[in-house]
Amino acid sequence: MASNPQQFDTYDDQLTAWVAGEPGHFGAQCCPDFSCCKPEFLQPVEVRRAFQLADESGRKKYLMAFLGAAIAQARPDKRVHITDGSEPEQSS
Ligand SMILES: [Zn+2]
Repeated sequence: MASNPQQFDTYDDQLTAWVAGEPGHFGAQCCPDFSCCKPEFLQPVEVRRAFQLADESGRKKYLMAFLGAAIAQARPDKRVHITDGSEPEQSS
């Protein structure tokens, strides 16, 4: 069940609070690891700090990993592979 996450006025506020361990929403947007809605997804503080310090492409990689973890946890019976399309994978 989604509780009632805090609301933040800016993405920076959202990010800073998330790093401090208080995940919430910026508008309708979840924090990067979705721990605002699923507390068990909260990443370790080192990971949250690293995300905040990362540049745009670094953040994208974290987001992919967070999303993959969230989906894998939601659907443990499915194999999930997320790609940004830049590196096609031959898997057979
Ligand atoms: Zn959320």
